[in-house]
Amino acid sequence: MKRCRMCGKEITDELSRERGYGPICYEKHLEEVKILQLELNFNSRFRPDMPHSERQKIINQLLYGQSSQR
Ligand SMILES: [Zn+2]
Repeated sequence: MKRCRMCGKEITDELSRERGYGPICYEKHLEEVKILQLELNFNSRFRPDMPHSERQKIINQLLYGQSSQR
């Protein structure tokens, strides 16, 4: 059983399961990622020549780290 990472509700549709968020929470998640990406542009861990997958890894770490602390 898959649950939304943000609100903990059960996810029923396939696409949302893959995302790990319900449709509404996914929109909020995207906003968070956008803000985070902007912040990361000023972060020393973030370099312009960094491959996209590395960026995504750092973003994921920060996002999931943040949500588990709440
Ligand atoms: Zn949710």
